Amino acid sequence: MTPGKTAVVIGAGLGGLALAIRLQSAGVATTLLERRDLPGGRAYVYKDEGFTFDAGPTVITDPSAIEALFEAAGKSMRDYVELLPVTPFYRLCWEDGTQFDYGNDQADLERQIHALEPADVEGYRRFLAYSKEVLAEGYIKLGAVPFLSFRDMLSAGPQLARLQAWRSVYGMVAKFIRNDKLRQAFSFHALLVGGNPFSTSSIYTLIHALEREWGVWFPRGGTGALVAGMAKLFEDIGGRLVLNADVSGFDTEGDRVTAARTADGQRWPADVIASNADVVHTYSNLLGAHPRGRSEGERLKTKRFSNSLFVVHFGLKREQPQLRHHTVCFGARYKPLIKEIFAGPHLPEDFSLYLHTPCATDPSLAPPGCSSHYVLAPVPHLGNVDVDWREEAPRYRDRIFSYLEQHYLPGLRDDLVTCRTFTPMDFKEQLNAHLGSAFSLEPVLQQSAWFRPHNRDGQIGNLYLVGAGTHPGAGVPGVIGSAKATAGLMLEDLHG
Ligand SMILES: Cc1cc2nc3c(=O)[nH]c(=O)nc-3n(C[C@H](O)[C@H](O)[C@H](O)COP(=O)(O)OP(=O)(O)OC[C@H]3O[C@@H](n4cnc5c(N)ncnc54)[C@H](O)[C@@H]3O)c2cc1C
Repeated sequence: MTPGKTAVVIGAGLGGLALAIRLQSAGVATTLLERRDLPGGRAYVYKDEGFTFDAGPTVITDPSAIEALFEAAGKSMRDYVELLPVTPFYRLCWEDGTQFDYGNDQADLERQIHALEPADVEGYRRFLAYSKEVLAEGYIKLGAVPFLSFRDMLSAGPQLARLQAWRSVYGMVAKFIRNDKLRQAFSFHALLVGGNPFSTSSIYTLIHALEREWGVWFPRGGTGALVAGMAKLFEDIGGRLVLNADVSGFDTEGDRVTAARTADGQRWPADVIASNADVVHTYSNLLGAHPRGRSEGERLKTKRFSNSLFVVHFGLKREQPQLRHHTVCFGARYKPLIKEIFAGPHLPEDFSLYLHTPCATDPSLAPPGCSSHYVLAPVPHLGNVDVDWREEAPRYRDRIFSYLEQHYLPGLRDDLVTCRTFTPMDFKEQLNAHLGSAFSLEPVLQQSAWFRPHNRDGQIGNLYLVGAGTHPGAGVPGVIGSAKATAGLMLEDLHG
């Protein structure tokens, strides 16, 4: 226990919430400041005309990491949120009508792989074994350990070398698997955490083993119910969640932060401060009055940032039993399209989409007989294309709707009850995301582990980071792991 100590966490994304729960559970009086009217960050929730739309994460993996938060607080997850299994994990679809139901049944997977390319059954087994090894080394051992010194990186070096971490996700998959569609099926996962499968380290193949090992889940009531459960847990154990609290800067004394200041003029003093906000925003804006903030902010701006996303949430007056919960709609191009998404310079003409159909698991997310959905298209971030999204959004949405009507949702526009869009501009303006990136720094090897912004700042000794921009990185398991790493450091420092 750490009586008498205080912490402020800025940002109630999943990483900020998880950190605040861990600190409060350890007896640190913790205040969580969130600029929006609801917690969740990328996992915000919209409710329109009886439809519930999760804004962001919908593929929930590694439930044990979430359960551990409730246990740390002496509570049971079951009393706060129920996780439902999702089967299949994803339905993968191509324009020629090929479908692949990717799930956890080895025999069924092998049957489908055999139908596409008999020789790839053996290749897939070897790929799975590799991916399990990476999971053990890269996630179970190192996913919640802060990399503060280069020595930590060097000690992980031999394993990284043995696992050929310099290869890309796609390069590694292609070593084992020949069929083009199967190569797409086992490499697209990098995109879920903002990684380009052709340049992200093969370490990210661990996502495949992670899903196979612990399944894919969805909270009853949507991801928003998980966020609400975590926020309730934090308040039940005495934490203070303050919404509509837009942090505008930090007060400092020498190389210490002493308080956060909000736009309404309030001052929030604390012994330790952690930021779950975007890392460039944290350094350039919140710490901008200190030389460390300005120099680190400028350094981070030279880094590679992940792509952005264009998201359309829509409600239909009909159920859609032909769709599974998660559908990945591959377009005609894979590598060239991904190259344009990550580098621009134009908004690609075609797209690959992810289509969310949560009523397949939980019909309560739409009025009776209706269905709620979102569709997302990965798009270049604002630094890579010069698009005025206020003008482009309706056009781009209509192109996506035409495509969905043609391939997946006939009559979509006739059945449309409600619809809203979230563009790269919204990532920038609503979430303070640098360049409107959806996942913060791109997860390439030279921006991972020690090379990523550290969980504790190197100069301001009581300032910490949590969430997608720090180690280990984006994705729900990633930011929950970052909270564990950061909480460990903060508690150690407070005790010291
Ligand atoms: C559309 C979409 C779909 C995704 N799907 C999946 C998925 O299926 N599975 C998966 O694992 N991952 C998925 N991800 C990735 C995952 O959602 C994110 O990596 C993760 O939720 C980010 O959490 P975070 O802790 O970094 O905080 P964020 O969600 O980025 O939250 C940061 C919070 O800080 C607040 N903030 C910012 N500035 C200030 C300030 N000055 N003052 C106060 N508050 C501030 C923001 O309002 C926000 O609430 C998806 C992401 C997106 C965008």
